[in-house]
Amino acid sequence: MMILANIVDLLSSAWMAGLIMLGLGFVFAVVLLIAHEKLKVEVDPRVVQIHAALPNIDCGACGFPGCGGYAKGVLENPELIGRCSPGGAAVAGKIAAILNLQASESGPAQRPIVHCRAHTADRTYYAEYQGIPSCTAANALANAQACKFGCLGFGDCVRACKFDALHIIDGLSTVDYSKCTGCTACSKACPRNLIEMVPFGHENMMTVACSSKENGKTTRAMCQVGCIGCGLCAKQSDAFTIADNLARMDYSKYAPCGENEAAMNKCPTGVIVYRGKTAPPPREPKAKPAASTTS
Ligand code: SF4
Ligand code: SF4
Repeated sequence: MMILANIVDLLSSAWMAGLIMLGLGFVFAVVLLIAHEKLKVEVDPRVVQIHAALPNIDCGACGFPGCGGYAKGVLENPELIGRCSPGGAAVAGKIAAILNLQASESGPAQRPIVHCRAHTADRTYYAEYQGIPSCTAANALANAQACKFGCLGFGDCVRACKFDALHIIDGLSTVDYSKCTGCTACSKACPRNLIEMVPFGHENMMTVACSSKENGKTTRAMCQVGCIGCGLCAKQSDAFTIADNLARMDYSKYAPCGENEAAMNKCPTGVIVYRGKTAPPPREPKAKPAASTTS
């Protein structure tokens, strides 16, 4: 009898404890539900739509840390439409449609041009660089190579590219335009600032693939294919200008035409080249280019 009474006692206290737990659970569930309703952050459904329309590669070309940030940013400021280089005009159009706006005419897609054409054999080296194999590290040393403007070839830009669109070929950073999305990461990574994003209005663009501002004589001593600032190109075409011993292409003026071809053919060092998906190989420099008279 004693045992039976103990079992009845135990069961009745277990029931009571169970009921208390159930009641507490219900109260906590109600509190959580109220807190969720009070504290929840409303997400504008257009942010979700814009985010879905983006390439979602988080490359940062738009200036935001990732696609999610850009989706919110462009909703607050529609002037940012068109900042997604990898998405290009197609994504800009989708965002404009989500925001009920007219997509403004955007110019040609931006693509990088490396303003150097010197491969390892074209350059003068004073000593073998044996430091950390990084352009940023090598750039901090005065004598990594004679030219302090040209490509160092350690591939900081290659490592920055998420699209396998850059490779170091014979010591020179080389863009694969069939893979490039125009995300701009390479141009930000180059410590020598020689990768420029330019409006690529044609299948191939003509460029002066050099950044040296040394006088012609010094450039010739440092590099077989550098610009010596002789000005022959600028005499053929007004798309070229000379400043600081260096010829530059005005990309907004570039068009495939006889004048530009003539400028390229007159160049004694072969530094005027085509870049693009179907660019022909660069011309070889003439044997004895005339050095610039500027000094
Ligand atoms: S080469 Fe790569 S890093 Fe440079 S713009 Fe193209 S995709 Fe971006
Ligand atoms: S382009 Fe700039 S980052 Fe790329 S390998 Fe040359 S120096 Fe380095």
